[in-house]
Amino acid sequence: MAFLGDYHTHTTFSRRGAKKHAIGSVLDNAFAAKKAGLTELAITDHGFCHYYGIDGDKAFDKLKIACMQAEALTGVKIYAGLENNLDPRSGKNKALPALMECTPETIAKLEIVQGGYHAMVGTPTIFRNMLFWARNVIFKFLPGRKKLIARNTEAYKRAIDEYPIDFIGHLNRGILADAVEVAKYAHSKGVYIELNGRHKSLTKKQIKKMAAAGVQFICNSDAHNPKDVGTMPIAVKLIKQCGIPYSQIANWDRLPDFRSQNFISARRQKNGEVVDG
Ligand SMILES: [Zn+2]
Ligand SMILES: [Zn+2]
Repeated sequence: MAFLGDYHTHTTFSRRGAKKHAIGSVLDNAFAAKKAGLTELAITDHGFCHYYGIDGDKAFDKLKIACMQAEALTGVKIYAGLENNLDPRSGKNKALPALMECTPETIAKLEIVQGGYHAMVGTPTIFRNMLFWARNVIFKFLPGRKKLIARNTEAYKRAIDEYPIDFIGHLNRGILADAVEVAKYAHSKGVYIELNGRHKSLTKKQIKKMAAAGVQFICNSDAHNPKDVGTMPIAVKLIKQCGIPYSQIANWDRLPDFRSQNFISARRQKNGEVVDG
């Protein structure tokens, strides 16, 4: 009985110029995954709009090649992805894309799609984003929070509707949304809710309600260092404390069924490309 995959890990592609935000290379993470007994791994470096985000589409192309090479060398199946950033303003402003980095060109390149809110994002500016974050923290205790929660919940739902998101990373971390409502909606669309190995973003009460509603979870390390790949102490603790049945953990003793894969094969079929399998 074990986790078979880790679908949220970072490499030195998460950086700002010469300043690296994570320690290992794609190959380092792949070898770490193999050592941890995993059969699948995803590299989901920070999206373009993050302060330490991967440096544009060209850098992502390099990441994808590194993933293919590491897969050939280690035998671990590797998905090339991004930690795509949710734009909370999109809950109110329908003209804004719900996921910032997901232009059709970028989406077309992703092999796994992670979506979620993140601090340290420079859209519209890092300062404005920090103000938003502060507002969420302060509003937790104010009557006006209902409006903010409704708007943020809507932003998550829009992202699920408009993009082939496979899982939502650290739901509610630094943002106020109705996490249970988002999780139920995600479940109805075949989207997993992450139990993050390094950050606790959901309360036990919320997790228990989600589990009772049949929500499917996925546990990921969010490793920024190869030594953490495949390790998810906080998620393991929450599974036990909340009594989540292991049948509701998508990467426990089985491999997840990512909905973006259907999206990708449908697109390839539409384009007249040969679809295997
Ligand atoms: Zn990070
Ligand atoms: Zn991350």
